[in-house]
Amino acid sequence: MPITVVGSIAYDTVKTPFGERQRMLGGAAVHFALAASFFDDVCVVGPVGEDFGEQQLDVMRRRGIDVDAVERIDGGRTFFWQGEYGWDLNTRETIDTQLGVFEGFQPKLTPAALASDVLFLANIQPDLQREVRAQLPDARFVALDSMNLWIDIARESLIAAIEEVDCLILNDAELRQLTGKPNLVSAAREILAWEPASSYRGPSVIVAKQGEYGAALITRESFFALPAYPLETVVDPTGAGDTFAGGLVGYIAAHPEEQLSEQLLRRAMAHATVLASFNVAEFGTERIERLEGREIVARIAELQAMTQFSGAPLALRG
Ligand code: AMP
Repeated sequence: MPITVVGSIAYDTVKTPFGERQRMLGGAAVHFALAASFFDDVCVVGPVGEDFGEQQLDVMRRRGIDVDAVERIDGGRTFFWQGEYGWDLNTRETIDTQLGVFEGFQPKLTPAALASDVLFLANIQPDLQREVRAQLPDARFVALDSMNLWIDIARESLIAAIEEVDCLILNDAELRQLTGKPNLVSAAREILAWEPASSYRGPSVIVAKQGEYGAALITRESFFALPAYPLETVVDPTGAGDTFAGGLVGYIAAHPEEQLSEQLLRRAMAHATVLASFNVAEFGTERIERLEGREIVARIAELQAMTQFSGAPLALRG
């Protein structure tokens, strides 16, 4: 079933030990949409400025993404983010964030965006995430991503937003920062125990992203984890989290008849992991723009083989 995503649509300037790019196409909603478009129809909601080019929109259109709800604001500047990575690609420094057209933005959803029954609230100001959530109150599955900036400056809004979704996707350090719990499992279980003030169900699935170490899935009943797909060269991790979310949410959206079972979630985690592995191999959206479905299928088989082991009955001593 179609997916609506709201989040940043950006120009990114990125420097890694392997090179740099100025003002390339980026943004959480863009990375998410490109990945999710391998699974289902996607509508992107968000503003861009006068400086945003048609060729950037064409990158999304070429993958069949509906950009009718991308609003061009007269006289506005597109969201801009600048970041730098050292040799440890798991940590990055944000050099600059300019919200531009996101300041004062009022999301207007098109009929197609309102008709989706799967919603992804990509990383952006949590009040904006809530405004979009309120417009799709009956969505079957709603997931949310955020980041340390919003935990720092909009904590109460972020907690309210999380209480309104089914699935929270955060970096492990952000989960610890949000809950004040040093342990990942206990941090996730604390959020799963929250009792929402509103009539929403509250989160039942927590996904902890762990960069090159993979990702963990925690529900009230279970725990599952996958390593990242091992790559010899990682060039630019920007957008890996959003691409991961696109694989996860896209896979769930493509199975509308299936209950949100443990098995479905695990397969979604595998697709998320594989999509993210392609994203980090080149700068920005470069690799995903050329990606083909058969490459995803082949890598899923490799990841499956790599993470399986058989039972080994052995009479242990003691
Ligand atoms: P990720 O590497 O998955 O965390 O996502 C990186 C993307 O998020 C980049 O393309 C940025 O444009 C975007 N981004 C960075 N900071 C923010 C922010 N404060 N709010 C929204 N999007 C952001």
